[in-house]
Amino acid sequence: MSAVISVNNLHKRYGSTVAVDDVSFEVQPGEIFAILGPNGAGKSTTVETVAGLRDADSGTLSVLGLDPQRDVQELRQRLGIQLQQAEVPDRLKVWEVLTLFAAFYDKTVPSETLLTNWGLQEKRNSFFSNLSGGQKQRLFIALALINDPEIVIFDELTTGLDPQARRSTWELVKAVRDQGKTVILVTHGMDEAEQLADRIAIIDRGRVIALDTPQGLIDGIQQENRISFSTPVGFDLDSMTGVEGVSRVEQAGNQVTVFGSGPLMARVALALSAQGIEPTDLRQERANLEDVFLAMTGRALRS
Ligand code: ADP
Repeated sequence: MSAVISVNNLHKRYGSTVAVDDVSFEVQPGEIFAILGPNGAGKSTTVETVAGLRDADSGTLSVLGLDPQRDVQELRQRLGIQLQQAEVPDRLKVWEVLTLFAAFYDKTVPSETLLTNWGLQEKRNSFFSNLSGGQKQRLFIALALINDPEIVIFDELTTGLDPQARRSTWELVKAVRDQGKTVILVTHGMDEAEQLADRIAIIDRGRVIALDTPQGLIDGIQQENRISFSTPVGFDLDSMTGVEGVSRVEQAGNQVTVFGSGPLMARVALALSAQGIEPTDLRQERANLEDVFLAMTGRALRS
């Protein structure tokens, strides 16, 4: 399969600020490709350059076979990018917003289809300013799809939403991919990238520091196994340190975590059972993308 987006050695600075420092990646058709990193890492600059909204200082880009700088008019017709809040006038009604934005494109999806697909029929006559956070995000998704684009870019789509609205928005992003579109998801949410992305580029300080599937990234860091359980009555922490494969034991509040290698779960369970203890919440902790970021940068990436 040939890539729908290919970015090679992209550089961009604003005055003395280096925003993007030699970024390269490829995106395959039909995938959800996440660009994950802390605020200020250069994510928006990268995707806005892909969309032809900013010019690169150097590097080569090919998007749907087009050059985003040279062919920006054609690219606009074939790519959708989520608007930011400030770009929609508060005193327009939902149907007026759709009509206004449809006028920019040669080919459009009928407003009625978008209103139905994105659960906005009931809100068609509401002012933009009166929509809830989740309804505004649904409208932004509808607007990004108004030209039936082949590639859709969502930039911090769920920032500011409550956990339930975030999860519903994730389902909507999957629905967009299921329509056969390629999705670029810019996020600083590790859970979001892990839940949605087929592949993730982790960007830090303008550079791609890792690029793989979520599981590939997690498997790539050599991490000790971790077994956790809540402290049983009369539990002696030292009883764990002698267990084969155990490197250290930590206690935080009423939670015990045992670190080590080999078949740790079985050995810890056996050692506990020998003391007549059977914790109900004995579990193996999985490494996550936060561990990946920490392992690669020495810093925490918090959403
Ligand atoms: P992210 O999307 O990862 O938060 P950005 O691409 O928005 O990162 O920003 C990368 C860096 O470039 C940051 O230091 C930001 O302050 C700076 N920056 C972004 N846009 C501009 C601009 N228009 N003018 C000056 N500096 C900018």
